[in-house]
Amino acid sequence: MLAVFAAPWALAEQPPKEIHDLLAAGPQGSKQIALTLDACSGKFDDDLVEYLIRKRIPATIFATKKWLDRNPKGLAIVKTHLDLFDVEDHGERHIPAVIGKGRTVYGIPGEPDVIHLRREVVEGARAVQEATGVAPHWYRGATGEYDDESIKEIDRLGYKIAGFSVNADDGATSKRLAIEKRLARVKPGDVILAHMNKPSSDSAEGLAAGLDYLLKKDFLFVRLDQVDLQQLPK
Ligand SMILES: [Zn+2]
Repeated sequence: MLAVFAAPWALAEQPPKEIHDLLAAGPQGSKQIALTLDACSGKFDDDLVEYLIRKRIPATIFATKKWLDRNPKGLAIVKTHLDLFDVEDHGERHIPAVIGKGRTVYGIPGEPDVIHLRREVVEGARAVQEATGVAPHWYRGATGEYDDESIKEIDRLGYKIAGFSVNADDGATSKRLAIEKRLARVKPGDVILAHMNKPSSDSAEGLAAGLDYLLKKDFLFVRLDQVDLQQLPK
C-alpha cells in the first residue's frame, strides 16, 4: 500500500515533475493537434472563447470547481457549445498534486496528504459533471506538476493525467508576440496548453493570431475525449 512508501524524508526530497505528452499516433500523415485551456480560478476570457466559437476550433477545457462556481456566464456559453468544447477536471480548489506537509509548487502549497488530493480530484470531477452533465475522464493538476504518489492516486481514481507539449502562454503571462511564435512552431501531435481565465492578459490576442496561422496550415484540432495521449520520454 501507499503508506509503506510514504516515508516523509523520501517524499520531501523528490522534486515534482511536469508531464509532457503528445497525441497518440493518429492516422498516417494526419495533422492532428489538441488545444487545451486551463480555467484555474479567476475570470472568463470571453474574447478567446468567442474567437474559438467563430472559427469552429474545438478545445479541451480544464476547469476547477472554483472557476465553475465563479463564472456562471462563461459556463453558460461553454455549455451551449459542447459540440466544440470538452470540459475536464482541473481540481476542486486548484491545489497542486504534490503530497507532503509544507511542499509547494511555484509558491502554491500542495496537499498535506493523499486524502486531500483525493478530495481535490473527485470534487473537481463532480463539479464538472454537475455543471455540464458529462463526467470527465482527464485530470490536470494545478501548475501541471505531480509526484509519484499523486500520479498513482490519480490513476487509481480512474483519471488519465493530461500533460502537454507546448506551453503557449506561461499561465497567461506571455506577451502576444511570444504566444504567436510558440504556436508557429507547433508540429502534428502537439498538445498546446494555454489559459482562458485571465481576460486582461495577452492570451486571447496571441492565441487568435497563432491559431489563425495553424488553421491556414491545415492542422486539425481534436479534443481529448476523442483521442489518447502518449507520454514523452524525459
Ligand atoms: Zn491551473
